[in-house]
Amino acid sequence: MTTDAAYTELSACLRRTHLLDSIGQLLGWDEQVNLPADSADLRAEQLAVLAEIQNAAAANPRTGELLALLEPSDLEADQVAVVRQARRDYDRATRLPPDFVREKAMQASRGYHAWARARAENDFASYAPVLEQNLEIARREAGYLGWAGREYDYMIDLHDPGMSAELIARLFAELKTGLVPLVRQITGSPVRARTDLLRGFPVEGQRAFLREVTARLGFDYRRGRIDVSLHPFCSGTGADIRMTTRFNADEPLDALFSSIHETGHGLYEQGLPRAHHGTALGMNAGMGVHESQSRLWENQVARSRGFWRHFEPRFRALFPAQTGGVSADELYLAINAVVPTLIRVDADEVTYNLHVILRFEIERRLFAGTLAVRDLPAAWTAAAQELLGLTPGSDREGVLQDVHWSGGAFGYFPSYCLGNMMAAQLWYRALALRPDLEADFARGDFTWLLGWLRREVHAAGRRHELPELVRRVTGAAFSPQPLLRYLRERYGPLFPA
Ligand code: ZN
Repeated sequence: MTTDAAYTELSACLRRTHLLDSIGQLLGWDEQVNLPADSADLRAEQLAVLAEIQNAAAANPRTGELLALLEPSDLEADQVAVVRQARRDYDRATRLPPDFVREKAMQASRGYHAWARARAENDFASYAPVLEQNLEIARREAGYLGWAGREYDYMIDLHDPGMSAELIARLFAELKTGLVPLVRQITGSPVRARTDLLRGFPVEGQRAFLREVTARLGFDYRRGRIDVSLHPFCSGTGADIRMTTRFNADEPLDALFSSIHETGHGLYEQGLPRAHHGTALGMNAGMGVHESQSRLWENQVARSRGFWRHFEPRFRALFPAQTGGVSADELYLAINAVVPTLIRVDADEVTYNLHVILRFEIERRLFAGTLAVRDLPAAWTAAAQELLGLTPGSDREGVLQDVHWSGGAFGYFPSYCLGNMMAAQLWYRALALRPDLEADFARGDFTWLLGWLRREVHAAGRRHELPELVRRVTGAAFSPQPLLRYLRERYGPLFPA
């Protein structure tokens, strides 16, 4: 068999796995958006059958044969990237014993329910043994895949290929040094944002506005849609993106900014090379890069003066009664409010990073064995005081607030902050190339920025790991300094000492 024939056959296998995955995503989207209340059992069965088919496809022995044939061959750079990713996925599908996979799935479900109960009753003690089992399962999984001794690195690499705990620790330490005093300055400012000014925004108007905004940013509604769900998300593939949002009449900025965030994810997926969906060339580069795209549109773009110069008149026209007594400055301050909170999902873009640093430091100690699960609540309280200057009134406001660990998702939190860092670095590179970028926005023109991201980030697929992608696009090493600079430049003038 020639190398070309083997490569073509491998691509077809990967494409099939990708299509099965996209079917699963569609069923998952439907479950959260449309599913009638009493149809959940059928959906669970459907998803279980599909998971069996997906696993069989991912572990197809033929894929193993093709990889064994291709790996020693002389391949082009693009083919090397495809084969490397295929090996990663194949090993994950084949190296975990079936008993372990079953145990892990059952534990994830058990963990979720134990967490939900513990959170409702503020009872960490009942959740602690489950969390210990989750950690043990994560360690075993890392061992099966050849990461013994580097278990936390394995968890990080799952979400952000190429990143490690040591590298993240260095980046976060530098970020923390700059961020803690900046937050103190902002919260010490006599200027206060008034988010309570925005009340009673009819959902229909909100829906119309966010649809206009996201279409203008470049989201292609012929290859995607937006609906309502309990928690906003973005799923699907570039050929069919499903985004969701949620509406609250008294929090119009929540629906708008969460939609713009998901639009950033959607634009990235829509920009991945269509002919290569299913292989590394048409695949996103990991969670951190994904978040860089959502954050860039949500924060750098949609919280800018230029953006609001264009959209504010339309916003006021849609909601004349609600915005009548609100000045332009008051509106812009509400859009850029910074208020430290104990709850990560309620955090603004400045303090959000501190929530991530807190979780990363705790996860790292858990995996290193220097922090015991039973000591988590105390460690969390100490970290919240140090980083946020706040003391949780209960474990619900502390260690029990996030769902992630209950399902065994360790190493996931850092992606959010890596994404913020990368977004700021991309932003300054874009500004260096096009200094009047905000003048584009003021005209409602986002085509230059999207075109640049398409060429530099989206078209690359998963050829490069995050630090290398950043270096290629910006010419500089991946660093927290651009994020610190951006936060200082945007929030310093708004909240003077
Ligand atoms: Zn996101």
